[in-house]
Amino acid sequence: MGEYVKFNNQVIKLGTCEDLYYARFQQIKDNLYLMEKVEGNDVPAGYLEPKHGYRYRFPFPDEDGRKLGDYENSDRGLLVGVPYNVFQETEHTKICRATNCQGGYNVNHYLTCPADPDFIETCSPRPRSAPIEIVQQKQVDGQLWTVCRCGWCQSKFRIPRETAEILCAAIVDESKDEYWQEVAKRIMAGYENNPVKEAEVTG
Ligand SMILES: [Zn+2]
Repeated sequence: MGEYVKFNNQVIKLGTCEDLYYARFQQIKDNLYLMEKVEGNDVPAGYLEPKHGYRYRFPFPDEDGRKLGDYENSDRGLLVGVPYNVFQETEHTKICRATNCQGGYNVNHYLTCPADPDFIETCSPRPRSAPIEIVQQKQVDGQLWTVCRCGWCQSKFRIPRETAEILCAAIVDESKDEYWQEVAKRIMAGYENNPVKEAEVTG
């Protein structure tokens, strides 16, 4: 179900169910006073309520300056290669692949995700690093945890601070680029803040 609010007297879409694809956490917080409830949707302050479990758009640096609701590529993921221990305690989804003979006798069967600890190397060894996508942020224990997606099986999972540190070390290691430095900075900033408390003050 779509999530809508009235913003500057216009109805805009924030996202779908708990995925607020078109809104950063900070944007909702900063613009709360310009938002009004749309019939059948949450009250604007409800989108900051930690117990509602909303996931917010990650503040990708190249999207700074975009308005609330004005984003393309709803489920955007920033891809980076990481050590396998970033996936600690992650539940991976089985990957469905088809096998057939001369276009017939098709069988769809499941493969274990190569980042899953249960994966067994057969035809080739795993690459040195695994693909991960940085996608969203979510409020957990008064912090904004980064939500990632496994590049192979597409499972989404949020990462605690210790894992975020491993992720950021990999980012900085892979690219000295200013953009990526900023991404790492923003990931870690989520673990410094106390977004819930601040939201209470301004909201
Ligand atoms: Zn996976």
